[in-house]
Amino acid sequence: MLYLSTRGDTSPKHFCDILLEGLAPDGGLYLPASYPKVDTATLARWREVYHKQGYAELAFEVLSLYIDDIPAADLRALCAKTYTAEVFGTGEIVPLRHLENGIWLEALSNGPTLAFKDMAMQLLGNLFEYELARRGEQLNILGATSGDTGSAAEYAMRGKQGVRVFMTSPAGRMSPFQQAQMFSLMDENIFNIAVDGVFDDCQDMVKAVSNDLDFKRKYKIGTVNSINWARLLAQVVYYFAGYFQATSPHPNPLPKGEGVEIQDSSLPLPLGEGGGEGGVTQKVSFAVPSGNFGNVCAGHVARCMGLPIARLVVATNENDVLDEFFKTGVYRVRGSADTFETSSPSMDISKASNFERFVFDLLGRDAARTKAYFGDALSRVGFFDLEAHPAFSQAAGKYGFASGKSTHADRLATIKDCWERHAMMIDTHTADAVKVAREHVKPGVPMIVLETALPIKFAATIVEATGREPDRPAKFVGIEDLPKRVVSMAADAAAIKDFIVQHCA
Ligand SMILES: *Cc1c(COP(=O)(O)O)cnc(C)c1O
Repeated sequence: MLYLSTRGDTSPKHFCDILLEGLAPDGGLYLPASYPKVDTATLARWREVYHKQGYAELAFEVLSLYIDDIPAADLRALCAKTYTAEVFGTGEIVPLRHLENGIWLEALSNGPTLAFKDMAMQLLGNLFEYELARRGEQLNILGATSGDTGSAAEYAMRGKQGVRVFMTSPAGRMSPFQQAQMFSLMDENIFNIAVDGVFDDCQDMVKAVSNDLDFKRKYKIGTVNSINWARLLAQVVYYFAGYFQATSPHPNPLPKGEGVEIQDSSLPLPLGEGGGEGGVTQKVSFAVPSGNFGNVCAGHVARCMGLPIARLVVATNENDVLDEFFKTGVYRVRGSADTFETSSPSMDISKASNFERFVFDLLGRDAARTKAYFGDALSRVGFFDLEAHPAFSQAAGKYGFASGKSTHADRLATIKDCWERHAMMIDTHTADAVKVAREHVKPGVPMIVLETALPIKFAATIVEATGREPDRPAKFVGIEDLPKRVVSMAADAAAIKDFIVQHCA
């Protein structure tokens, strides 16, 4: 499998060539030259693989189609080491729970930092360690975080050979729980840097260092941001695992009179939207709490591979760049003044960094046009408009996308309702997706909401909604009282460079 850039660079690259890279040299994002197709027989086999051999083995099957430069035995071992019940809390890794008629929750948030970013980042940590050892190289990961990404990266890279993490965060702006999660790590290869400033200041420092190409090369600076293809690829796997849990291998209608307690669309039924010829194809839909479009883009890839997905429902919060696009065809990025701080903070984005991948596919993989929109129009006028473009109707038609938006009031009402009626506590991001999922659920098509964090991470809003503290997993009891390892720094690129130089002996 070879990879190309969304902006036209087609110099042949294999998976490990792009593993440690961010953007392609032409400023585009990497995508596989084509999506491998999964036929009905393979889908049936993978269902068995997931149920009998487990998630890690399913991950190996999916990843093998995209990775031809890691020997199969090594890749299998990396998957097995990553997706364990010990790290992810259950044997299913991504267990499905029934919420209400037609709607299910797929838990992606039982990893070390209790957010879905662990699903990909844990694999990335093992892939990085493997590839760096193979090359005899080192990597210094420099990042900026306002919460979930930084902690997922640190928990994935802690103790890994050949990797150091320098993670900046705005001092005092993360929740006490998030600070405790990151700052309590005592691993020698993890450096927490609390910057006197806001998140944008942290990002500016990272950008300034990355733009100093000599420094970047000399000190092997890398990133783990959400445009990394390996992260996206790792996320494709749980769309398959969700499908296998929500559908049945033998789609015969339920016998009348059995299991009658649960009504119509609450059970996965065989009569999904598109019954195929010579057999019924069961379909499911997914509702995805979205910010940078990384999570739902993995769903798009799964669907392009042939996973029978009816709808991919993009749920946004008040930062509704994506909802606006799917409703109007206009993609308008926001300035920081128009980017709201919300109670689902991991979706507070001004532009969706992975969106270029989808638009490239939507435009029939026209790299010149993709470049004109993302490389030119966005920087020049801040938006592009596809409404009149024939491809736009395919976003919903050919590609199955739908969207919706949720506000703080919706979030509170949804969290309260799920708690009071179903005794299920959901986090603020998941609540945004449940709210939007309810607007799009159809009889006979299970709607799987991706649960992207546990409520304990956003306790203040949960208390506001329900009057109760969310449960805290045992391993996190008392983490706020642990010793902290963090240095303070002014918002100054020279200061972070000095710090990196000192700690790269
Ligand atoms: C990162 C994150 C999201 C948004 O995912 P994208 O891939 O950026 O769309 C949603 N919920 C939580 C809890 C997250 O950490």
